[in-house]
Amino acid sequence: MPRHTIEEMYQELGISRKVYRLGKETEDSLAERFAKIQETAEYNQLKVVSAMQKCRVSAECFQSGTGYGYNDLGRDVLEEVYAAVFHTEAALVRSQITCGTHALAVALAANLRPGDELLSISGKPYDTLEEVIGIRPSAGSLAEYGVSYRQVDLLSDGSFDFEKIRGAVNDKTRVVAIQRSKGYQTRPTLSVEAIAEAIRFVKDIRPELIVLVDNCYGEFVECGEPSDFGADMTVGSLIKNPGGGLAPVGGYIAGTKACIDRAAYRLTSPGLGREVGASLGVNRSFFQGLFLAPTVVAGALKGAIFAANIYEKLGFRVVPNGTEKRHDIIQAVEFGTPEGLIAFCEGIQAAAPVDSYVRPEPWAMPGYDSDVIMAAGAFVQGSSIELSADGPLKAPYAAYFQGGLTWEHAKLGILKSLQSLVDKGLVCLEEI
Ligand SMILES: *Cc1c(COP(=O)(O)O)cnc(C)c1O
Repeated sequence: MPRHTIEEMYQELGISRKVYRLGKETEDSLAERFAKIQETAEYNQLKVVSAMQKCRVSAECFQSGTGYGYNDLGRDVLEEVYAAVFHTEAALVRSQITCGTHALAVALAANLRPGDELLSISGKPYDTLEEVIGIRPSAGSLAEYGVSYRQVDLLSDGSFDFEKIRGAVNDKTRVVAIQRSKGYQTRPTLSVEAIAEAIRFVKDIRPELIVLVDNCYGEFVECGEPSDFGADMTVGSLIKNPGGGLAPVGGYIAGTKACIDRAAYRLTSPGLGREVGASLGVNRSFFQGLFLAPTVVAGALKGAIFAANIYEKLGFRVVPNGTEKRHDIIQAVEFGTPEGLIAFCEGIQAAAPVDSYVRPEPWAMPGYDSDVIMAAGAFVQGSSIELSADGPLKAPYAAYFQGGLTWEHAKLGILKSLQSLVDKGLVCLEEI
């Protein structure tokens, strides 16, 4: 017989009865949606296992190369597996890709030449890409290399502005970029279906246009990926969804052979490309992380939906709302005040398995134009497939919450965040 009830266990972790009860009610009301998420996880699990079998993943793949990294079997098979999962001709999956921004920077720089134009058709790109592109001047930006930039904003309902896109494509346009997830914006995340329609539209204008999709936080949320619908490059970070929490570093680009070869030449060196780049012991965690990714993503998704429903009940604006369909694992909650945003992040930090005793503070992070607060007590530093929250200290003081390697932990995190708001008098549970 267990010594404690679950409610008592939560109490031991600082969760009051009222907060626990609100959580329980909310969870009970979400049973049907959670079952749908499990179905998607099941589909994607089969997709990943089938790719691993087809590519003959073996124990030898977990050995790793050193030095130049010629004939690094695990690295090469891993790239085949990614290509099979994303249904692309090729993939570049490397620990030498330091993060998502780097993967995107490599993909862009590799496939644009002086005089070319990059066109973003999903509005302003993710903050860190502003310096990559040169929207905010930076040494080594695409702008410095004579690559121009143009952008078409999404319509107010979050859909593509097809008329303006047609008008924006010109003789110089070479790469068309689409960002799936909302990043630090409160626009809706794009569904794979909407992205597919945009890719068809762009290819209709000029088939040789290269379509790049920033797939960060979107992997395995749906049964299909942008690469299934003609994206020439699908790009993301391994310390988000596809690393499954086990990848300690890395990024991927999956796409056409021509685009991936250019990306590899850019990442390592012209002439060397994919042939070099020792895997240095990370192969097993890359494979195993990818294997776990569909279920890890499912847990994170449940956490996001749970958070949306709790905070919506309390009267906060949440994006997406409690009932909307999901296309990434990000949940934004607008607190309207710095105190609310900070209290939320403190609660998330307090729920962590690592560094739970520290208090996050806003700071001027490189690449961002305002102070940012980040809560993360992760096994992999900065990993945002693990339970984490962050937000820029500017109106509307939105917290962006994501991750949770397990649903159970994501749930604890949300309850701790709410408890933190309650304890500071920022939320009163009597009122609901
Ligand atoms: C996280 C993210 C990036 C950048 O990834 P980093 O790994 O933080 O460099 C780019 N685009 C989107 C939409 C993201 O969410």
